[in-house]
Amino acid sequence: MDEETPKGEVRDLWRLERVIPENESVTSIVLSGTDPKMAARRAGQFAVLRLPAPGGWSDPHPFTISAAPEDPEVRMTIKREGAFTASIRDLKPGTAVRLAGPFGTFCRDIEKKRQAVMIAGGVGITPFLSVLRHLRHVASPLPVTLFWSNKTYNDIFAADELKELTGLISLRVVHCLSREEDVSPYRDGRFPAVSYEAGRLSARILEAHGVTKEAAVYLCGPPAMMDATLGELASLGIPPAAVEREQFVWKAKGG
Ligand SMILES: Cc1cc2nc3c(=O)[nH]c(=O)nc-3n(C[C@H](O)[C@H](O)[C@H](O)COP(=O)(O)OP(=O)(O)OC[C@H]3O[C@@H](n4cnc5c(N)ncnc54)[C@H](O)[C@@H]3O)c2cc1C
Repeated sequence: MDEETPKGEVRDLWRLERVIPENESVTSIVLSGTDPKMAARRAGQFAVLRLPAPGGWSDPHPFTISAAPEDPEVRMTIKREGAFTASIRDLKPGTAVRLAGPFGTFCRDIEKKRQAVMIAGGVGITPFLSVLRHLRHVASPLPVTLFWSNKTYNDIFAADELKELTGLISLRVVHCLSREEDVSPYRDGRFPAVSYEAGRLSARILEAHGVTKEAAVYLCGPPAMMDATLGELASLGIPPAAVEREQFVWKAKGG
Protein backbone atom coordinates (compact mmCIF):
# COMPACT_ATOMS: atom_id res chain seq x y z
CA MET A 1 0.00 0.00 0.00
CA ASP A 2 2.87 2.38 0.81
CA GLU A 3 4.34 1.92 -2.62
CA GLU A 4 7.01 4.50 -3.45
CA THR A 5 8.22 5.67 -6.86
CA PRO A 6 12.00 5.69 -7.57
CA LYS A 7 11.99 9.36 -6.53
CA GLY A 8 10.61 8.47 -3.11
CA GLU A 9 7.15 9.93 -3.86
CA VAL A 10 4.31 7.94 -2.25
CA ARG A 11 1.79 7.11 -4.97
CA ASP A 12 -1.11 6.32 -2.71
CA LEU A 13 -1.12 9.86 -1.34
CA TRP A 14 -4.08 11.79 -2.78
CA ARG A 15 -5.48 15.30 -2.32
CA LEU A 16 -9.06 15.95 -1.33
CA GLU A 17 -10.41 18.48 -3.85
CA ARG A 18 -14.10 18.78 -2.98
CA VAL A 19 -16.73 17.60 -0.50
CA ILE A 20 -20.23 17.36 -2.01
CA PRO A 21 -23.30 16.69 0.19
CA GLU A 22 -25.64 14.40 -1.81
CA ASN A 23 -28.47 14.13 0.73
CA GLU A 24 -28.85 14.16 4.50
CA SER A 25 -26.63 11.11 5.10
CA VAL A 26 -24.65 10.68 1.86
CA THR A 27 -21.58 12.71 0.90
CA SER A 28 -19.30 12.54 -2.14
CA ILE A 29 -15.61 13.32 -2.01
CA VAL A 30 -13.51 14.12 -5.06
CA LEU A 31 -9.82 13.21 -4.94
CA SER A 32 -6.88 13.95 -7.24
CA GLY A 33 -3.73 11.86 -7.47
CA THR A 34 -1.19 10.40 -9.85
CA ASP A 35 -1.27 6.64 -9.21
CA PRO A 36 -1.22 5.04 -12.69
CA LYS A 37 -2.97 1.93 -11.32
CA MET A 38 -5.94 4.05 -10.36
CA ALA A 39 -5.96 5.69 -13.81
CA ALA A 40 -6.29 2.18 -15.31
CA ARG A 41 -9.33 1.29 -13.18
CA ARG A 42 -12.53 -0.22 -14.56
CA ALA A 43 -16.07 0.94 -13.90
CA GLY A 44 -17.50 -0.63 -10.72
CA GLN A 45 -14.21 -1.13 -8.87
CA PHE A 46 -13.47 0.04 -5.34
CA ALA A 47 -10.51 1.50 -3.48
CA VAL A 48 -9.46 1.57 0.15
CA LEU A 49 -9.36 4.94 1.88
CA ARG A 50 -7.42 6.05 4.94
CA LEU A 51 -7.71 9.47 6.53
CA PRO A 52 -5.23 11.36 8.70
CA ALA A 53 -5.62 10.26 12.32
CA PRO A 54 -3.78 11.07 15.55
CA GLY A 55 -0.34 9.48 15.27
CA GLY A 56 -0.64 8.56 11.58
CA TRP A 57 -3.48 7.14 9.51
CA SER A 58 -6.93 5.70 10.22
CA ASP A 59 -7.87 2.08 9.59
CA PRO A 60 -8.58 1.41 5.90
CA HIS A 61 -12.20 1.52 4.67
CA PRO A 62 -13.35 0.36 1.21
CA PHE A 63 -15.53 2.52 -1.04
CA THR A 64 -16.60 2.11 -4.64
CA ILE A 65 -15.26 4.68 -7.08
CA SER A 66 -18.49 6.27 -8.29
CA ALA A 67 -16.79 8.27 -11.04
CA ALA A 68 -16.29 6.80 -14.52
CA PRO A 69 -12.81 5.43 -15.26
CA GLU A 70 -12.54 8.19 -17.87
CA ASP A 71 -12.95 10.90 -15.22
CA PRO A 72 -9.57 12.36 -14.25
CA GLU A 73 -10.55 12.61 -10.59
CA VAL A 74 -11.69 9.82 -8.28
CA ARG A 75 -15.10 10.30 -6.69
CA MET A 76 -16.43 8.27 -3.78
CA THR A 77 -20.00 8.53 -2.54
CA ILE A 78 -20.22 7.63 1.11
CA LYS A 79 -23.12 6.99 3.48
CA ARG A 80 -22.79 7.83 7.17
CA GLU A 81 -22.73 4.57 9.16
CA GLY A 82 -20.21 4.89 12.01
CA ALA A 83 -17.44 7.18 13.21
CA PHE A 84 -15.27 6.99 10.07
CA THR A 85 -18.01 7.71 7.57
CA ALA A 86 -19.50 10.41 9.84
CA SER A 87 -16.21 12.33 9.60
CA ILE A 88 -16.33 12.54 5.78
CA ARG A 89 -18.55 15.63 5.51
CA ASP A 90 -16.24 17.67 7.76
CA LEU A 91 -13.10 16.99 5.71
CA LYS A 92 -11.43 20.12 4.36
CA PRO A 93 -10.31 20.54 0.73
CA GLY A 94 -6.53 20.20 0.56
CA THR A 95 -6.44 17.35 3.09
CA ALA A 96 -4.00 14.57 2.16
CA VAL A 97 -5.59 11.09 2.18
CA ARG A 98 -4.32 7.65 1.23
CA LEU A 99 -5.99 5.55 -1.42
CA ALA A 100 -5.08 1.98 -2.41
CA GLY A 101 -6.55 0.10 -5.32
CA PRO A 102 -8.36 -0.39 -7.55
CA PHE A 103 -9.85 -3.72 -6.45
CA GLY A 104 -12.83 -5.85 -7.41
CA THR A 105 -14.50 -7.35 -10.45
CA PHE A 106 -18.13 -6.24 -10.11
CA CYS A 107 -19.75 -5.48 -13.49
CA ARG A 108 -16.49 -6.32 -15.28
CA ASP A 109 -18.06 -7.88 -18.37
CA ILE A 110 -21.24 -5.84 -18.47
CA GLU A 111 -20.49 -4.26 -21.84
CA LYS A 112 -20.45 -7.73 -23.46
CA LYS A 113 -24.06 -8.41 -22.39
CA ARG A 114 -27.08 -7.99 -24.64
CA GLN A 115 -29.13 -6.29 -21.94
CA ALA A 116 -28.47 -5.46 -18.31
CA VAL A 117 -30.62 -5.06 -15.22
CA MET A 118 -29.05 -3.15 -12.33
CA ILE A 119 -30.70 -3.36 -8.91
CA ALA A 120 -29.47 -1.00 -6.19
CA GLY A 121 -30.50 -0.40 -2.60
CA GLY A 122 -29.60 3.01 -1.18
CA VAL A 123 -25.90 3.81 -1.46
CA GLY A 124 -25.51 0.50 -3.34
CA ILE A 125 -26.07 2.69 -6.40
CA THR A 126 -22.36 3.69 -6.44
CA PRO A 127 -20.95 0.95 -8.71
CA PHE A 128 -23.86 1.50 -11.10
CA LEU A 129 -23.23 5.25 -11.20
CA SER A 130 -19.67 4.46 -12.22
CA VAL A 131 -20.81 2.04 -14.94
CA LEU A 132 -23.53 4.38 -16.27
CA ARG A 133 -21.09 7.32 -16.36
CA HIS A 134 -18.69 5.06 -18.27
CA LEU A 135 -21.39 3.90 -20.73
CA ARG A 136 -22.08 7.56 -21.43
CA HIS A 137 -18.39 8.26 -22.10
CA VAL A 138 -18.15 5.42 -24.63
CA ALA A 139 -21.66 6.02 -26.08
CA SER A 140 -22.51 2.37 -25.38
CA PRO A 141 -25.67 0.95 -27.01
CA LEU A 142 -26.19 -1.51 -24.08
CA PRO A 143 -29.86 -1.46 -22.99
CA VAL A 144 -29.95 -1.00 -19.20
CA THR A 145 -32.84 -0.96 -16.73
CA LEU A 146 -31.86 0.42 -13.33
CA PHE A 147 -34.08 -0.32 -10.32
CA TRP A 148 -33.10 1.84 -7.35
CA SER A 149 -34.74 1.23 -3.97
CA ASN A 150 -34.83 4.02 -1.42
CA LYS A 151 -37.12 4.74 1.50
CA THR A 152 -38.35 8.14 0.29
CA TYR A 153 -38.04 10.51 -2.67
CA ASN A 154 -35.70 12.72 -0.60
CA ASP A 155 -33.20 9.86 -0.31
CA ILE A 156 -32.59 9.87 -4.07
CA PHE A 157 -29.44 11.67 -5.17
CA ALA A 158 -27.90 12.18 -8.64
CA ALA A 159 -31.54 12.31 -9.78
CA ASP A 160 -31.00 15.00 -12.43
CA GLU A 161 -27.98 13.21 -13.81
CA LEU A 162 -29.92 9.95 -14.12
CA LYS A 163 -32.74 11.78 -15.91
CA GLU A 164 -30.23 13.30 -18.33
CA LEU A 165 -28.58 9.90 -18.90
CA THR A 166 -31.89 8.43 -20.09
CA GLY A 167 -31.63 10.79 -23.06
CA LEU A 168 -27.97 9.96 -23.78
CA ILE A 169 -27.72 6.18 -23.42
CA SER A 170 -30.23 3.34 -23.61
CA LEU A 171 -31.29 3.64 -19.96
CA ARG A 172 -34.57 3.28 -18.11
CA VAL A 173 -34.72 4.11 -14.40
CA VAL A 174 -37.31 2.72 -11.96
CA HIS A 175 -37.26 4.36 -8.51
CA CYS A 176 -38.84 2.09 -5.86
CA LEU A 177 -39.80 4.09 -2.77
CA SER A 178 -40.56 1.72 0.09
CA ARG A 179 -42.05 4.31 2.45
CA GLU A 180 -44.09 6.30 -0.07
CA GLU A 181 -47.71 5.50 -0.85
CA ASP A 182 -48.38 7.95 -3.68
CA VAL A 183 -45.56 8.41 -6.18
CA SER A 184 -47.65 10.19 -8.83
CA PRO A 185 -46.35 13.70 -7.90
CA TYR A 186 -42.82 12.64 -8.86
CA ARG A 187 -43.54 11.65 -12.46
CA ASP A 188 -42.18 14.14 -15.00
CA GLY A 189 -43.47 13.91 -18.59
CA ARG A 190 -40.18 15.32 -19.90
CA PHE A 191 -38.44 12.12 -18.78
CA PRO A 192 -40.68 9.19 -19.78
CA ALA A 193 -37.86 6.67 -19.16
CA VAL A 194 -37.83 7.54 -15.45
CA SER A 195 -40.64 5.92 -13.46
CA TYR A 196 -41.61 5.59 -9.82
CA GLU A 197 -43.12 2.68 -7.90
CA ALA A 198 -44.49 2.75 -4.36
CA GLY A 199 -43.35 -0.02 -2.03
CA ARG A 200 -40.50 -2.49 -1.97
CA LEU A 201 -39.06 -3.94 -5.16
CA SER A 202 -41.11 -7.01 -6.03
CA ALA A 203 -41.37 -9.64 -8.74
CA ARG A 204 -44.46 -7.77 -9.98
CA ILE A 205 -42.49 -4.54 -10.41
CA LEU A 206 -39.55 -6.33 -12.05
CA GLU A 207 -41.88 -8.09 -14.46
CA ALA A 208 -43.89 -4.96 -15.20
CA HIS A 209 -40.66 -3.28 -16.33
CA GLY A 210 -39.67 -6.11 -18.63
CA VAL A 211 -37.18 -8.13 -16.60
CA THR A 212 -36.76 -11.60 -18.09
CA LYS A 213 -34.31 -14.48 -17.77
CA GLU A 214 -32.45 -13.14 -20.81
CA ALA A 215 -31.07 -10.11 -18.96
CA ALA A 216 -27.76 -10.04 -17.08
CA VAL A 217 -28.69 -9.03 -13.52
CA TYR A 218 -26.45 -7.07 -11.12
CA LEU A 219 -27.33 -6.42 -7.47
CA CYS A 220 -25.82 -4.19 -4.78
CA GLY A 221 -27.44 -3.03 -1.56
CA PRO A 222 -27.82 -3.74 2.16
CA PRO A 223 -27.79 -7.48 3.01
CA ALA A 224 -31.51 -7.72 3.88
CA MET A 225 -32.52 -5.94 0.68
CA MET A 226 -30.25 -8.19 -1.37
CA ASP A 227 -31.71 -11.35 0.19
CA ALA A 228 -35.27 -10.19 -0.42
CA THR A 229 -34.47 -9.22 -4.02
CA LEU A 230 -32.87 -12.60 -4.74
CA GLY A 231 -36.14 -14.20 -3.62
CA GLU A 232 -38.17 -11.97 -5.96
CA LEU A 233 -35.81 -12.72 -8.86
CA ALA A 234 -35.99 -16.47 -8.14
CA SER A 235 -39.76 -16.35 -8.47
CA LEU A 236 -39.21 -15.02 -12.01
CA GLY A 237 -36.92 -17.97 -12.80
CA ILE A 238 -33.66 -16.06 -12.24
CA PRO A 239 -31.69 -18.08 -9.64
CA PRO A 240 -29.28 -16.43 -7.16
CA ALA A 241 -26.31 -18.02 -8.95
CA ALA A 242 -27.21 -16.03 -12.07
CA VAL A 243 -27.14 -12.69 -10.23
CA GLU A 244 -23.80 -10.90 -9.99
CA ARG A 245 -23.55 -9.27 -6.56
CA GLU A 246 -21.40 -6.76 -4.68
CA GLN A 247 -21.49 -6.88 -0.87
CA PHE A 248 -20.79 -3.65 0.99
CA VAL A 249 -20.40 -5.53 4.25
CA TRP A 250 -17.32 -4.29 6.03
CA LYS A 251 -16.12 -5.51 9.38
CA ALA A 252 -14.21 -2.79 11.20
CA LYS A 253 -10.89 -3.87 12.75
CA GLY A 254 -11.64 -5.85 15.89
CA GLY A 255 -15.32 -6.03 14.90
C1 LIG B 1 -16.34 -3.54 -1.67
C2 LIG B 1 -17.03 -2.50 -0.82
C3 LIG B 1 -17.47 -1.32 -1.40
C4 LIG B 1 -18.11 -0.35 -0.61
N1 LIG B 1 -18.54 0.80 -1.23
C5 LIG B 1 -19.20 1.71 -0.49
C6 LIG B 1 -19.67 2.92 -1.11
O1 LIG B 1 -19.50 3.16 -2.31
N2 LIG B 1 -20.33 3.80 -0.31
C7 LIG B 1 -20.54 3.57 1.03
O2 LIG B 1 -21.15 4.42 1.69
N3 LIG B 1 -20.12 2.44 1.62
C8 LIG B 1 -19.43 1.52 0.90
N4 LIG B 1 -18.99 0.39 1.52
C9 LIG B 1 -19.24 0.20 2.97
C10 LIG B 1 -18.23 0.99 3.79
O3 LIG B 1 -16.93 0.44 3.63
C11 LIG B 1 -18.62 0.96 5.27
O4 LIG B 1 -19.90 1.51 5.44
C12 LIG B 1 -17.68 1.79 6.10
O5 LIG B 1 -16.36 1.27 6.04
C13 LIG B 1 -18.17 1.81 7.57
O6 LIG B 1 -17.23 2.52 8.33
P1 LIG B 1 -17.63 3.26 9.71
O7 LIG B 1 -16.44 3.17 10.61
O8 LIG B 1 -18.17 4.60 9.44
O9 LIG B 1 -18.78 2.42 10.29
P2 LIG B 1 -18.64 1.25 11.37
O10 LIG B 1 -18.24 1.83 12.68
O11 LIG B 1 -17.76 0.17 10.78
O12 LIG B 1 -20.13 0.76 11.43
C14 LIG B 1 -21.09 1.54 12.14
C15 LIG B 1 -22.38 0.82 12.22
O13 LIG B 1 -22.95 0.66 10.94
C16 LIG B 1 -23.07 -0.72 10.63
N5 LIG B 1 -22.63 -0.84 9.28
C17 LIG B 1 -21.41 -0.51 8.79
N6 LIG B 1 -21.36 -0.73 7.48
C18 LIG B 1 -22.58 -1.19 7.14
C19 LIG B 1 -23.14 -1.58 5.90
N7 LIG B 1 -22.43 -1.55 4.77
N8 LIG B 1 -24.42 -2.00 5.90
C20 LIG B 1 -25.15 -2.04 7.03
N9 LIG B 1 -24.66 -1.66 8.23
C21 LIG B 1 -23.40 -1.26 8.28
C22 LIG B 1 -22.17 -1.47 11.59
O14 LIG B 1 -22.64 -2.79 11.84
C23 LIG B 1 -22.23 -0.59 12.80
O15 LIG B 1 -23.36 -0.88 13.58
C24 LIG B 1 -18.32 -0.57 0.76
C25 LIG B 1 -17.87 -1.77 1.35
C26 LIG B 1 -17.24 -2.72 0.57
C27 LIG B 1 -16.76 -3.99 1.22
